[in-house]
This record gives sequence, C-alpha cells and structure tokens, in this order.
Amino acid sequence: MRVTAEFVTSAAGAEGLPKDGLPEIAVVGRSNVGKSSLINALVRKKLARTSAAPGKTRLANFYRVAVEGKSPFYLVDLPGYGYAKAPRQARGGPASAEGRRQQAAGEFDALAAAYFGNRVSDARFRGVFVLVDSRHPGLDIDRQTWHWLERLGVRCHVVATKVDKLTRAERQRHLAELEKVYSGPVTPSSADTGEGLDQLWKTIASLTTTVQP
Ligand code: GDP
Repeated sequence: MRVTAEFVTSAAGAEGLPKDGLPEIAVVGRSNVGKSSLINALVRKKLARTSAAPGKTRLANFYRVAVEGKSPFYLVDLPGYGYAKAPRQARGGPASAEGRRQQAAGEFDALAAAYFGNRVSDARFRGVFVLVDSRHPGLDIDRQTWHWLERLGVRCHVVATKVDKLTRAERQRHLAELEKVYSGPVTPSSADTGEGLDQLWKTIASLTTTVQP
C-alpha cells in the first residue's frame, strides 16, 4: 500500500479550517500519549513532530493523506491535552506544573471546541481517534475528553498506544479495562512494532469511503 502525506495548514480557530471539502478524521490525546509517533507510523513518514518539547503542538495541523488509488482525506492533529509535568529547567514546583497543565488544557479546549463545534454536523467530518496510553487505562482526563466528544455526538474510536511496553498479563488486564471504561472495542497499537496500523487503516477506509448520513 503506497501512502502519500503532506502537511497542508495549521488552524488556530474555526476561521483557519480548510474549505475544500475533503473528508476529515481527527486525532486527539494527552500530550506524550504517542500521537505524533502514531501519525508518522501510519503515513510512514516524519510528518508530525514527536515531542522533544511536550505540549508544543498548539494548533490543529491538517495533513493531506492519500492511499494509492483512493481519494485523499485530512488527518487532523489536534493539540495534546493535560500535560502535567513541569519542564526540567523550571523551578516553580507543583504550582508551575499545574499552571502548565491548565494552559495546555485551555488551549486544547479552545481549539477542540472551535474544531468539533464547527465540524460535528458537517458531512466531511468522519470521526476521531482518541488515543489513550495503554499503560494508564481510564485516566480521568481521557475519560472526560471521551465523554465530552460523545456528548457532542462525535464518533470516537479509542486507540490504546504503546502496547509494546506492556507485559502479556498487563496487556490482557489493561485492554479489558479500557474496553469497559470506553464501552466498546479499543484498538491496541504500537508505533514501535507497527501493531494495530492495519486495523487503523481499515477503520480509516471505512470512515472515509462511507457517505455519512
Ligand atoms: P505526542 O506528544 O502524543 O505526540 O507523543 P510522541 O509521539 O512524541 O511520543 C512521546 C514519547 O513516547 C516519545 O518518547 C516516543 O518515542 C514514545 N512513544 C511513542 N509511541 C510509542 C510506542 O508505540 N512504543 C514505545 N515504546 N514508545 C512510544
């Protein structure tokens, strides 16, 4: 399968969203969840910046992706939320860590509200991959984001990242817990081993080719 992918634009609000009508699939997740790595693994190219400086993606990045012989679509990389760790050089202690978390959450909320509010009832919007770290199933911030999206009426596909880091027993336990928390199937994935990428491509194909009611 030949995939082409290119960065098209960054949007800081609803006014910056592309208007060319291609189908869109959004990707959200906590900072450091492995979002950039997974996007890069999917398109087999360094497209999204992996977090040398976590929490840095502050805009919605639109990547135009096409699988040979099929119509292109946008992968929409939304900012990571809830980054809780203070940068190493910061000396402010917990207060500044909390400040950073709130700032990151605020940026995600503002952009996510602008993006999803604008797109939720738009035929070009096909769904969202909600990335959760398989090592930490059921984190409040992930559940809140998922609930918020579900309440908006957004179709969520939960993807458990970094499964290569789990032991066999953890894998079984954590995936079962995730499926319970998110009331449905969860796709285990690893940017390192490539696990789950085929499944994600199948999901993408079904989302981008089906005309949504
Ligand atoms: P983002 O902030 O969500 O975009 O996260 P990144 O893609 O930058 O990943 C955060 C860290 O997790 C980096 O050090 C990655 O190398 C690491 N990482 C990401 N995906 C995987 C994975 O599937 N397996 C392992 N073992 N590490 C991963």
